[in-house]
Amino acid sequence: MPNHTLEHSPNAVLNKAVLHNYMTLPIPDGKVQATYIWIDGSGEGIRGKTRTLDFVPNKPEELPIWNFDGSSTGQAEGHNSDVYLYPVAIFKDPFLRGNNKLVLCETYKYNKKPTDTNKRNTCVQAMELAKDHKPWFGIEQEYTLLDMDKRPLGWPKNGFPGPQGPYYCGVGADKVYARDIVEAHYRACLYAGINVSGTNAEVMPAQWEYQVGPCEGISIGDQLWVSRYILHRVAEDFGVVVTFDPKPMEGDWNGAGAHTNYSTKAMREEGGIIEIEKAIDKLSRNHLRHIQAYDPKGGKDNERRLTGKHETSSIHDFSAGVANRGASIRIPRGCAEDKKGYLEDRRPSSNCDPYSVAEAIVRTTILNE
Ligand code: ADP
Ligand code: MN
Ligand code: MN
Ligand code: MN
Repeated sequence: MPNHTLEHSPNAVLNKAVLHNYMTLPIPDGKVQATYIWIDGSGEGIRGKTRTLDFVPNKPEELPIWNFDGSSTGQAEGHNSDVYLYPVAIFKDPFLRGNNKLVLCETYKYNKKPTDTNKRNTCVQAMELAKDHKPWFGIEQEYTLLDMDKRPLGWPKNGFPGPQGPYYCGVGADKVYARDIVEAHYRACLYAGINVSGTNAEVMPAQWEYQVGPCEGISIGDQLWVSRYILHRVAEDFGVVVTFDPKPMEGDWNGAGAHTNYSTKAMREEGGIIEIEKAIDKLSRNHLRHIQAYDPKGGKDNERRLTGKHETSSIHDFSAGVANRGASIRIPRGCAEDKKGYLEDRRPSSNCDPYSVAEAIVRTTILNE
């Protein structure tokens, strides 16, 4: 990896051994640092700020409601700028360790209505109505690492790597870039309490994937968002940039998705394949609704990615098939053989809001809306 680009990264050149002196200072008993995290007005960016607590929180209800300047995050006008943070989920903080916490929040406007990019609010309502069906989600989060010039990490400055083929699940210094970040993120997520189920190098060099799940109901969105925060934060320590753009490089390079694996209790039971097929039939009749929910720009981002090439389906057509990676919905080979299991919706983009994706799936397949 040509290191000259990282030398320009302010975070990479700070001396981490010096930082260690301060991070090992004893602090007064009972003080807890809580980093409140929220989704900003773009619907993809994540923000966070930290406050001190005098107690160790166990439930989100115990935590104070807080606020921030929404005019600086695309979430409010300057003259009426306070946006409220309502804590909804608590995770262990893998950066500060100890009793320190990451606190995921929903955002509410001055009039206590959800902000435009608070997609969790209605997702919770759908999950509550659907809870007897025990909906499970497993999301494959793909992403790309960039240097400070926004060039994929390890790519030649004035040229391109060799064509795709050797990089997917690759090993070796000429196949994958910055595995350190992947390993650090994996461990940090497990420490935090996120149900990460695996990771792999992707088809485009500098592109990676990790999977979160299966998670029941709303927790898929909570866990995926916090895992994204942790990824940005780990990469920051290494002086590297993470992008969730679904098509970071034009041309013969794979895009990035967030394949969403989904099942209900009935699909997981003997003969559940019938339920899987029923769900696929309902999904086929709601293609447009799902495309609108599957990226933060209502389908515009996925237009660049869902071309029908590079292991994607066309954004304009719905299709389904066993083991077919060129379809909208894939039934994994093993599930077809077992006649039960789950389906994979391959359409969500890497920068999707998992609350919107999970809500659309539940409303279409369980609530019959
Ligand atoms: P792929 O073969 O498409 O690359 P992965 O192994 O990357 O699949 O991801 C599969 C995902 O499906 C994992 O997140 C896993 O937790 C999830 N999963 C497994 N079983 C179920 C299930 N019954 N319902 C929902 N998700 C599931
Ligand atoms: Mn995968
Ligand atoms: Mn993948
Ligand atoms: Mn997949």
